[in-house]
Amino acid sequence: MKKTYHGSCHCGAVRFEADIDLDKGTSKCNCSFCSKTRFWKAFVEENDVRMTDGQENLTEYQFGSLTIVHSFCRTCGIKPFGRGETPDLGVFYAVNLACLEDLAVEDLLSAPLEYQDGKHDSWGETPSEFRHL
Ligand SMILES: [Zn+2]
Repeated sequence: MKKTYHGSCHCGAVRFEADIDLDKGTSKCNCSFCSKTRFWKAFVEENDVRMTDGQENLTEYQFGSLTIVHSFCRTCGIKPFGRGETPDLGVFYAVNLACLEDLAVEDLLSAPLEYQDGKHDSWGETPSEFRHL
């Protein structure tokens, strides 16, 4: 069941809400970007993320296929979420679960977790090694 969580960057300039059903799963990816940031995420639909403060403090980064817009706080550098669009999913957000202030660690740990082989452009596959992600 979806639950509304409250998230922020490190300095607190950027604040948002996200409606997430953790039972639908979380993921970590071994691509060049996610592996450097240890990005642990949950995908949600376009309307399930709402900015509550600091939209103007977000800046963006893109690379590779330019499918995803990675949003960062321009003050502290923390990435609260990425936003993308594909023919299959439509517009989606990948929420940084580490930014959610009211997500209990035990709830995060009990959520399903899958690993994606983004390094080889095979997001549907589990990489051969993932313990470091
Ligand atoms: Zn910040």
